[in-house]
Amino acid sequence: MAPEPVDVNLIHRLKRALKGWLPDFQTDLAWLVAHDRGSEYKAGVDAAGTWMLAKLRDLGCDTAVYPSDEYGSAIAGTLKGQGQGRALLVAHLDTVWPQGAAAAWPLRIEGTRAMGPGVVDNASGSLTGYYVLKALRQVGYDDFDAITLLCNADEELGSPFSKEIIQSLAQSRDAAFILESPSNPDEIISQRAGLMYYDLRVTGKNAHAGVEPEKGHNAIQELCCKLNECQQLAREGDVLTVSVSTIKGGQRPNIVPDYARAQIDVRVETLAEAERVDAHFREIADRVWVPGTSATLDGGISHPPMQRGPQSPWLVESAQAIGQELGISLKDTFCGGTSDGCYTAVVGTPTLCGLAPFGALYHTRGEYLDLSTVVPRSTLVAGLVVACAKEKSHGV
Ligand SMILES: [Zn+2]
Repeated sequence: MAPEPVDVNLIHRLKRALKGWLPDFQTDLAWLVAHDRGSEYKAGVDAAGTWMLAKLRDLGCDTAVYPSDEYGSAIAGTLKGQGQGRALLVAHLDTVWPQGAAAAWPLRIEGTRAMGPGVVDNASGSLTGYYVLKALRQVGYDDFDAITLLCNADEELGSPFSKEIIQSLAQSRDAAFILESPSNPDEIISQRAGLMYYDLRVTGKNAHAGVEPEKGHNAIQELCCKLNECQQLAREGDVLTVSVSTIKGGQRPNIVPDYARAQIDVRVETLAEAERVDAHFREIADRVWVPGTSATLDGGISHPPMQRGPQSPWLVESAQAIGQELGISLKDTFCGGTSDGCYTAVVGTPTLCGLAPFGALYHTRGEYLDLSTVVPRSTLVAGLVVACAKEKSHGV
């Protein structure tokens, strides 16, 4: 189906409101960047959650806290409207940076680049969500049922705690918009690879490597045979990538090794592919090349793939139509990395990712946000929320 025509007037009113708040956006960005929010630093991420919650409450949102003892608590704010259509916006408040990073590396702005720990991953995404809700309120648009902004605090750990919250919220939503930055300024992401982790351990038997090697069972040799077989899947094109990412084994150069261990990262495009990989890896773990060795295999799917669904073309076309109005020609892309969009898509909720303002070099000291993309990208997200509500109210 073709998307509803864009309400040009509304888009430009939203854009004007968002543009007017750009200085406030930067002030809020400075607050977040000045506070340590590493995923392991619960007090820090919880403080950011409390700060965001107060802002959402001031907007008139219904708020919720999802408390976690181990990880940072997740928070949500929901704006209620008078119409139909329920959208979910997802961003994260945690970063990969340790305590002390905020003080050592304060927000710096050079031209249109803002730099600092977690500035784009994902302070700017979280603030985009907040300002989108604020803009919708400002222009008096309430022709939707509900729009929820969820900010989690364990995304950089793979969302071990918030995954279920995200999935359960997504289940009752017509669309999920993930506020991660795209890989390029003119991109959006409708598909992401799934991620599988494996831990393969081989046990053998020690022996003197010179005097009586025949009494040993070489665990490293066995592991190498197995890994070669695992890599074969990627070579044959059955799977996106198989990367042996860590390897350990042995004691000394003159001992036949009795143990070896490898960790493997696998990226897949579909759940069916993931099932094939899993069956194949388990068969390899059971098969023996070096007699006398044995192996165990742990692992499986960490993030399901964010697969395109029947609604994906509609979402992409809607984004492109809004982009056109904003003077950006948006390209739909596939990304090999994961995001919380993997969790919203797997429960069947139409999902679009890579919507937040553009930035790059995440997880490095070079991380930056391109401030010139804040207004167009937040207008895009606001426009998508409107498009989702319109679509629903027209009985689709
Ligand atoms: Zn990250």
